[in-house]
Amino acid sequence: MNIEKSKELFASACKVIPGGVNSPVRACRNVHCDPLFIESAKGSHIKTVDGKDFIDFIGSWGPMLLGHAHPDVDKAICDAAKKGTSYGAPTEIEVLLAEKVCKALPSCDMVRMVNSGTEATMSALRLARAVTGRNKLVKIIGGYHGHGDAFLASAGSGLATFSIPGTPGVPESTVQDTLLVPYNDLDAAKVIFEKYGNEIAAFFVEPCAGNMGLVLPLSGYLQGLRDLCTKYGALLVFDEVITGFRVSYNGAQGRFGVTPDLTTMGKIIGGGLPVGAYGGKAEYMQRIAPAGDVYQAGTLSGNPLAMAAGLVTLNILEKADYAGLEQRVLSFVKELVAVLQGKGLDVQYQHIASMFTLFFTDKPVHNFADVQNASTEIFESYYKQMREMGIFLSPSAFETAMVSFAHTDDDFNYTLDCAKKLKF
Ligand SMILES: *Cc1c(COP(=O)(O)O)cnc(C)c1O
Repeated sequence: MNIEKSKELFASACKVIPGGVNSPVRACRNVHCDPLFIESAKGSHIKTVDGKDFIDFIGSWGPMLLGHAHPDVDKAICDAAKKGTSYGAPTEIEVLLAEKVCKALPSCDMVRMVNSGTEATMSALRLARAVTGRNKLVKIIGGYHGHGDAFLASAGSGLATFSIPGTPGVPESTVQDTLLVPYNDLDAAKVIFEKYGNEIAAFFVEPCAGNMGLVLPLSGYLQGLRDLCTKYGALLVFDEVITGFRVSYNGAQGRFGVTPDLTTMGKIIGGGLPVGAYGGKAEYMQRIAPAGDVYQAGTLSGNPLAMAAGLVTLNILEKADYAGLEQRVLSFVKELVAVLQGKGLDVQYQHIASMFTLFFTDKPVHNFADVQNASTEIFESYYKQMREMGIFLSPSAFETAMVSFAHTDDDFNYTLDCAKKLKF
């Protein structure tokens, strides 16, 4: 495939933008490819500056559940833009979106809008520390909560140890309060609470892990975390930046029937514009300034364009056929797995709603260690061949494919036809 224009732009980009991209994974380094530069997107399709058309399974990494350039979302953004793009004073649409979010998510009496998922998790951590008067947080090995310093801790020696920073620039003192446990391991969570229970402010978890590839919670895991947090007086924080409005309109908390103390959101609630949010019980949220003493602010927070995009997106999703999409995606994934297995590959899959990950391994996948068993070499070959045939996949073995309501059966069938031509 001729991608000369993308290559030229990437060369120019590398001179003025670190690594040529504004977020690392876009650079496609994991799969040793040059990134494709995008010209436009519509529905389930995305077009590069080279004039090539792809079926998109990235969905901007989560936000585009309705597909690209949905006419109602576009109209809402354009209408809003005509009335001015930012005022630094409150607007009605912020109230409407907050009401909508609180109605959808069982845990939220109140919600504060911010500009990214990263900001949401950083603010939720600050609030949890203020509410509990404690400093430590527990997070999952392989869990991602944006790039806030406290969350950038690598596994280090794992269970029941203090963290070491996951990147230069984060002081050890910042992550010394970050404790790590494997996902889906309730015993490990118990051990950490037994040891540090009265120092733990919050347990942060993606209810369905979506940043180590998709890994679903085992039965009883989320409820077990809920019980532990209640027992030890720590706040349970569901990071629903991916799962919110995707695994169901009522989030993972609605779907699994487990209510966290705080919830962080992003991606879908901005309808493709930069939005994050955090919410929870009123007694906690009332601690946020100016209602309370915990400072958190934002010049562009609640931006009218972003609120307009988010509100119309949720209005459409409220009536959307999530079950139907889940069924269609599941049949597609099962067929895809069958095609790959027919080629002699070991493949596991994880799927919920409109998201899935294929893992090239013969062992079941329940946590980050299992994920790391999967072959990145086979993934790279799969990625490169599929891309050559017009399928736009996440350029990493450890990411989640995002399907949208705009994906048609033709899109799925074309993708399966491509898979049948793969050679390993
Ligand atoms: C994407 C993501 C974030 C960070 O959101 P940004 O908008 O990229 O800052 C946080 N948590 C989870 C679970 C995410 O998937």
